Order: sequence, then C-alpha cells, then structure tokens
Amino acid sequence: MAKTKKQKLIKKMDDLWSRIVRKVGRCEVCGCIQGLEAHHLIERGNHYYRFDIHNGLCLCTSHHQFSADKSAHGRKGSSMCAVDRFLEWFKEYKPEQWKWYQENKNNKPMETLRMVFYEEAYIKLRESETQEWN
Ligand SMILES: [Zn+2]
Repeated sequence: MAKTKKQKLIKKMDDLWSRIVRKVGRCEVCGCIQGLEAHHLIERGNHYYRFDIHNGLCLCTSHHQFSADKSAHGRKGSSMCAVDRFLEWFKEYKPEQWKWYQENKNNKPMETLRMVFYEEAYIKLRESETQEWN
C-alpha cells in the first residue's frame, strides 16, 4: 500500500528529530560517542510529543537499551532496576528536562491530530535544526 502524505512527513520528521537530538554528539549518561541513538522520553506512540525536541535524549545503545546499570528501556536482559537508576540519573542531571517530562508525560491529545499539526511541528523542527541545542 502506498504511503500517505502524512506517513511520509512522519518518516521525514522522525529522521530529522533523531538527527537534532543526536547533535549532542555523546551519550548524555556516559559521554561515549559511538552508536548514538535518540531516546523518546514520552513514547513515540504519542504523536503530540513525538517531534518535540524536549522529548529527546542522546544515548549510547547501552544506556538506551541494554545496560544492566542504567538504561532507558531496560529491555533484553537488563532489569527494571536499570530503568529506575536511569530515571534517578535523569532527575539529577537533567533537572529542567525532568520537570518538562513530569509536566507532560501524562498528557494525551484527546482527538486525532490533524495534518496541520504535523506541518507546524515540521516547521518547528526545521527551526530547531539550525539552533544550538544541548
Ligand atoms: Zn552511555
């Protein structure tokens, strides 16, 4: 089935969002510079925040997913404690962003987002791309 205009825009925005988040250039937990990934604090299924730069952290694969010490998702072998420790780190080291996360994490848009929402979010992302972000 052919992709709709909205699906194509979402793909483009996902790529752009990830690139902007990874502009930090190092894992925000450990500082390593390899295999960087962009983590969504509020899950991707919530399109209202999916393309918001506040919603991203630049993490190495380990701290994104695999580390038994701290990992944002705590999947594949790491325990829930790793997620708890990740959240403790987040709260301590990124207090502004933690505050944003606490204020927004339970918000869900009540209606299906219209195309104009995506178009405006794309413009905002394009602006963020050229600004300094850390
Ligand atoms: Zn790391």
